[in-house]
Amino acid sequence: AERQSANLNQLADEYLRLAYQGLRAKDKTFQAELKTDFDPELPRVSVVATDLGRVLLNLLNNAFYAVRQRQQQGEAGYAPRVTLQTRRVGAQVEIRVMDNGTGISDEVRAKLFQPFFTTKPTGEGTGLGLSLSYDIITKGHAGTLRVESQPGQGSTFAIALPTSRP
Ligand code: ADP
Ligand code: MG
Repeated sequence: AERQSANLNQLADEYLRLAYQGLRAKDKTFQAELKTDFDPELPRVSVVATDLGRVLLNLLNNAFYAVRQRQQQGEAGYAPRVTLQTRRVGAQVEIRVMDNGTGISDEVRAKLFQPFFTTKPTGEGTGLGLSLSYDIITKGHAGTLRVESQPGQGSTFAIALPTSRP
């Protein structure tokens, strides 16, 4: 696939809506707050747009799953929220997918990026999303994919990509 210079704010926004609509089509009662915090000066980045879109969709689907799961635990006053943030950080751009869902235990975290690792019931997860995403970002785009999480509070997945050469 070909690389192209992309506006990641636009791409991220598109996939946020796509992921949310996809989930709402299956569960019409589900609602979450969608937040965006985009750097308006974000430099364009050379990416394989379909591959990066697939990564965003994986991360967003995981985020929505985690907030929905926490909501189903019935905690009083809980409001599901998924936030997308973009930032320039030195010679890189960062896209952060943040959720206030279940969070990730240390035990799960150690296996996150392994192919076929999933904590989801059969039919709901293949365990391939994060391993594929990791390869697309690191091998395909010379970037990094990092995770931070507070169990019970939520998780952040941060994609960092080198900015396009002038
Ligand atoms: P799948 O979604 O098919 O299970 P992934 O590779 O996308 O496979 O994710 C692997 C596992 O990592 C998930 O089953 C889940 O346990 C955990 N995980 C990933 N993202 C999140 C998240 N945002 N919040 C909580 N757990 C997560
Ligand atoms: Mg997944």
